[in-house]
Amino acid sequence: MKATKRIALVAHDERKADLLVWTRRNTATLARHQLYATGTTGKLLTDQCGLSITRMKSGPLGGDQMLGAMIAQGELDVLIFFWDPMSAQPHDVDVKALLRMSVLYNILTACNRSTADFLISSPSFNTIYEQACKDYSVHIHRPS
Ligand code: PGA
Repeated sequence: MKATKRIALVAHDERKADLLVWTRRNTATLARHQLYATGTTGKLLTDQCGLSITRMKSGPLGGDQMLGAMIAQGELDVLIFFWDPMSAQPHDVDVKALLRMSVLYNILTACNRSTADFLISSPSFNTIYEQACKDYSVHIHRPS
């Protein structure tokens, strides 16, 4: 992982205020990295924090899947995903798929403010980090 991280920011509607507070607090640090977001989250953070953010589609319209595909292609290092534990989401399967990709590819993942605080205050956040990658070759080369 390079010193400049590729960071995805996502929040469900009931968690957007939390992510906005966290992003405001960390705007200067975040501005040094490459930022991505689902559609509505990205618009909110761009408008309110003045950050330059590449926006995907809105989450329920495929944005979560777009971020998941980026992870599978090695194009994201960090996922800050404030998902809502109190409401059912129409795109629940997409939410699960995105979280699965983040674990599968061992990228940094924070789903609440405490974890996001620890993550962004790590010395490794702004430096090169040797990321352990699980070897999936046995799966790829299994007999068909
Ligand atoms: P949104 O999507 O930023 O477009 O609201 C978030 C999500 O539900 O994944």
